[in-house]
Amino acid sequence: MARYRESVCRLCRREGLKLFLKGDRCYGDKCAFERRGYAPGDHGQQRRKQHSDYGVQLREKQKLKRMYGLLERQFRGNFEKADRRKGITGTNLLLSLEGRLDNMVFRMGFANSRSEARQLVTHNHFLLNGKAINIPSYLVSAGDEIQVREKSRKVISILEAMGTIARRGVASWIELDKDNFKGVVKMLPTRDVLTMPVQEQLVVELYSK
Ligand code: SF4
Repeated sequence: MARYRESVCRLCRREGLKLFLKGDRCYGDKCAFERRGYAPGDHGQQRRKQHSDYGVQLREKQKLKRMYGLLERQFRGNFEKADRRKGITGTNLLLSLEGRLDNMVFRMGFANSRSEARQLVTHNHFLLNGKAINIPSYLVSAGDEIQVREKSRKVISILEAMGTIARRGVASWIELDKDNFKGVVKMLPTRDVLTMPVQEQLVVELYSK
Protein backbone atom coordinates (compact mmCIF):
# COMPACT_ATOMS: atom_id res chain seq x y z
CA MET A 1 0.00 0.00 0.00
CA ALA A 2 1.21 3.51 -0.80
CA ARG A 3 2.39 5.49 2.19
CA TYR A 4 3.20 9.08 2.96
CA ARG A 5 6.96 9.15 3.61
CA GLU A 6 7.73 12.81 4.24
CA SER A 7 7.93 14.33 7.72
CA VAL A 8 4.41 14.35 9.14
CA CYS A 9 5.18 17.62 10.94
CA ARG A 10 5.13 19.30 7.53
CA LEU A 11 1.47 18.35 7.30
CA CYS A 12 0.64 20.27 10.50
CA ARG A 13 2.59 23.25 9.26
CA ARG A 14 0.84 23.08 5.89
CA GLU A 15 -2.62 22.96 7.49
CA GLY A 16 -1.75 25.66 10.02
CA LEU A 17 -2.71 23.63 13.08
CA LYS A 18 -1.50 20.77 15.21
CA LEU A 19 -2.81 17.45 13.87
CA PHE A 20 -1.15 15.41 16.64
CA LEU A 21 0.49 12.87 14.36
CA LYS A 22 3.60 12.14 16.43
CA GLY A 23 2.31 11.09 19.80
CA ASP A 24 4.00 12.41 22.90
CA ARG A 25 6.28 14.73 20.95
CA CYS A 26 3.21 16.76 19.96
CA TYR A 27 2.67 17.75 23.60
CA GLY A 28 6.20 18.96 24.29
CA ASP A 29 8.38 21.85 23.23
CA LYS A 30 9.92 19.77 20.43
CA CYS A 31 6.75 20.10 18.37
CA ALA A 32 7.76 21.50 14.98
CA PHE A 33 4.56 23.51 14.71
CA GLU A 34 5.29 25.25 18.02
CA ARG A 35 8.79 26.07 16.82
CA ARG A 36 7.98 26.98 13.22
CA GLY A 37 4.28 27.65 12.92
CA TYR A 38 4.47 28.69 9.30
CA ALA A 39 3.99 26.65 6.12
CA PRO A 40 6.91 24.46 4.98
CA GLY A 41 8.96 25.25 1.90
CA ASP A 42 10.93 28.22 0.61
CA HIS A 43 7.93 30.55 0.62
CA GLY A 44 6.42 29.28 3.85
CA GLN A 45 7.07 32.46 5.78
CA GLN A 46 5.28 34.65 3.27
CA ARG A 47 1.81 35.84 4.16
CA ARG A 48 -0.79 33.10 3.60
CA LYS A 49 -2.82 33.56 0.44
CA GLN A 50 -6.55 34.13 0.68
CA HIS A 51 -8.09 30.88 -0.55
CA SER A 52 -10.93 30.62 -3.04
CA ASP A 53 -14.04 28.68 -1.92
CA TYR A 54 -12.56 25.62 -3.60
CA GLY A 55 -9.25 26.18 -1.82
CA VAL A 56 -10.94 26.41 1.58
CA GLN A 57 -12.89 23.20 0.94
CA LEU A 58 -9.77 21.44 -0.29
CA ARG A 59 -7.75 22.42 2.79
CA GLU A 60 -10.53 21.20 5.05
CA LYS A 61 -10.60 17.84 3.29
CA GLN A 62 -6.82 17.54 3.45
CA LYS A 63 -6.86 18.40 7.15
CA LEU A 64 -9.42 15.71 8.00
CA LYS A 65 -7.77 13.12 5.77
CA ARG A 66 -4.38 13.77 7.32
CA MET A 67 -5.73 13.78 10.85
CA TYR A 68 -6.88 10.18 10.36
CA GLY A 69 -3.85 9.28 8.24
CA LEU A 70 -5.77 8.10 5.20
CA LEU A 71 -4.84 8.25 1.55
CA GLU A 72 -7.18 9.89 -0.95
CA ARG A 73 -8.76 6.67 -2.19
CA GLN A 74 -9.49 5.35 1.31
CA PHE A 75 -10.86 8.71 2.39
CA ARG A 76 -13.06 9.00 -0.68
CA GLY A 77 -14.36 5.48 -0.03
CA ASN A 78 -15.34 6.54 3.49
CA PHE A 79 -17.09 9.57 2.09
CA GLU A 80 -19.07 7.52 -0.43
CA LYS A 81 -20.24 5.12 2.27
CA ALA A 82 -21.17 8.07 4.51
CA ASP A 83 -23.12 9.61 1.65
CA ARG A 84 -25.14 6.43 1.12
CA ARG A 85 -26.21 6.29 4.77
CA LYS A 86 -29.18 8.13 6.22
CA GLY A 87 -28.48 11.38 8.05
CA ILE A 88 -26.06 14.23 7.54
CA THR A 89 -23.24 13.10 5.26
CA GLY A 90 -20.53 15.19 6.96
CA THR A 91 -21.44 13.86 10.40
CA ASN A 92 -21.66 10.30 9.05
CA LEU A 93 -18.18 10.71 7.60
CA LEU A 94 -16.67 11.99 10.81
CA LEU A 95 -18.31 9.29 12.91
CA SER A 96 -17.23 6.54 10.55
CA LEU A 97 -13.62 7.74 10.79
CA GLU A 98 -13.89 7.87 14.55
CA GLY A 99 -15.36 4.36 14.71
CA ARG A 100 -12.42 2.71 12.95
CA LEU A 101 -10.58 0.09 14.97
CA ASP A 102 -7.20 1.83 14.55
CA ASN A 103 -8.68 5.09 15.82
CA MET A 104 -10.15 3.36 18.88
CA VAL A 105 -6.80 1.73 19.63
CA PHE A 106 -5.25 5.20 19.48
CA ARG A 107 -8.02 6.72 21.59
CA MET A 108 -7.54 4.00 24.20
CA GLY A 109 -3.89 4.93 24.47
CA PHE A 110 -2.40 1.69 23.13
CA ALA A 111 -0.63 3.66 20.40
CA ASN A 112 0.96 7.08 20.22
CA SER A 113 -0.64 8.04 16.94
CA ARG A 114 -3.23 6.74 14.52
CA SER A 115 -0.56 5.61 12.08
CA GLU A 116 1.17 3.64 14.84
CA ALA A 117 -2.20 2.18 15.84
CA ARG A 118 -2.82 1.08 12.26
CA GLN A 119 0.52 -0.69 12.12
CA LEU A 120 -0.06 -2.41 15.46
CA VAL A 121 -3.51 -3.61 14.37
CA THR A 122 -2.11 -4.91 11.09
CA HIS A 123 0.55 -6.80 13.03
CA ASN A 124 -2.17 -8.59 14.95
CA HIS A 125 -1.53 -7.25 18.45
CA PHE A 126 -5.19 -6.90 19.48
CA LEU A 127 -8.30 -8.90 20.24
CA LEU A 128 -11.74 -7.52 19.53
CA ASN A 129 -14.29 -9.15 21.81
CA GLY A 130 -11.80 -11.96 22.36
CA LYS A 131 -11.08 -12.63 18.68
CA ALA A 132 -7.90 -11.69 16.83
CA ILE A 133 -8.42 -8.96 14.27
CA ASN A 134 -5.99 -7.20 11.97
CA ILE A 135 -8.24 -4.90 9.94
CA PRO A 136 -7.57 -1.23 10.82
CA SER A 137 -10.70 0.03 9.05
CA TYR A 138 -13.03 -2.37 10.90
CA LEU A 139 -15.89 -0.36 12.43
CA VAL A 140 -16.36 -1.03 16.11
CA SER A 141 -19.73 -0.93 17.88
CA ALA A 142 -20.85 0.31 21.26
CA GLY A 143 -19.97 -2.27 23.90
CA ASP A 144 -17.02 -3.71 21.98
CA GLU A 145 -13.94 -4.63 23.98
CA ILE A 146 -10.45 -4.19 22.60
CA GLN A 147 -7.59 -5.91 24.36
CA VAL A 148 -3.87 -6.15 23.79
CA ARG A 149 -3.03 -9.81 23.16
CA GLU A 150 -1.18 -11.59 25.94
CA LYS A 151 1.89 -12.12 23.74
CA SER A 152 1.97 -8.42 22.77
CA ARG A 153 2.02 -6.93 26.26
CA LYS A 154 5.75 -6.41 26.13
CA VAL A 155 5.77 -4.54 22.84
CA ILE A 156 7.75 -1.38 23.57
CA SER A 157 5.63 1.00 21.53
CA ILE A 158 2.44 -0.19 23.27
CA LEU A 159 4.02 0.19 26.71
CA GLU A 160 5.41 3.61 25.85
CA ALA A 161 2.05 4.80 24.58
CA MET A 162 0.29 3.52 27.69
CA GLY A 163 2.84 5.35 29.81
CA THR A 164 1.90 8.69 28.29
CA ILE A 165 -1.87 8.32 28.15
CA ALA A 166 -2.34 10.51 31.23
CA ARG A 167 -0.88 13.39 29.29
CA ARG A 168 -3.16 12.86 26.31
CA GLY A 169 -6.28 11.84 28.20
CA VAL A 170 -8.81 9.13 27.36
CA ALA A 171 -11.94 10.03 25.41
CA SER A 172 -15.12 10.17 27.47
CA TRP A 173 -16.77 7.38 25.46
CA ILE A 174 -14.05 4.90 26.37
CA GLU A 175 -13.55 2.95 29.56
CA LEU A 176 -9.92 2.00 29.97
CA ASP A 177 -8.69 -0.84 32.15
CA LYS A 178 -4.97 -0.22 31.96
CA ASP A 179 -4.01 -3.05 34.31
CA ASN A 180 -5.64 -5.61 32.05
CA PHE A 181 -4.54 -3.95 28.81
CA LYS A 182 -8.07 -3.47 27.60
CA GLY A 183 -10.67 -0.86 26.87
CA VAL A 184 -14.39 -0.86 26.21
CA VAL A 185 -16.20 1.43 23.79
CA LYS A 186 -18.94 2.54 26.18
CA MET A 187 -20.79 4.29 23.37
CA LEU A 188 -20.01 5.55 19.91
CA PRO A 189 -19.20 9.26 19.96
CA THR A 190 -21.68 11.83 18.74
CA ARG A 191 -20.69 14.90 16.76
CA ASP A 192 -20.93 17.25 19.73
CA VAL A 193 -18.28 15.39 21.75
CA LEU A 194 -15.73 15.48 18.92
CA THR A 195 -13.90 18.71 19.56
CA MET A 196 -11.35 18.78 16.74
CA PRO A 197 -11.58 21.92 14.62
CA VAL A 198 -13.03 20.46 11.42
CA GLN A 199 -15.84 21.76 9.24
CA GLU A 200 -16.88 18.50 7.65
CA GLN A 201 -19.62 20.23 5.64
CA LEU A 202 -16.89 21.79 3.51
CA VAL A 203 -15.63 18.32 2.62
CA VAL A 204 -19.12 17.35 1.52
CA GLU A 205 -19.34 20.49 -0.62
CA LEU A 206 -15.98 19.69 -2.21
CA TYR A 207 -16.95 16.15 -3.19
CA SER A 208 -20.42 17.19 -4.31
CA LYS A 209 -19.17 19.46 -7.09
FE1 SF4 B 1 2.24 18.12 14.38
FE2 SF4 B 1 2.95 16.57 16.38
FE3 SF4 B 1 4.78 17.33 14.59
FE4 SF4 B 1 3.76 19.06 16.35
S1 SF4 B 1 5.05 17.26 16.78
S2 SF4 B 1 4.07 19.41 14.19
S3 SF4 B 1 1.61 18.38 16.48
S4 SF4 B 1 2.99 16.01 14.24
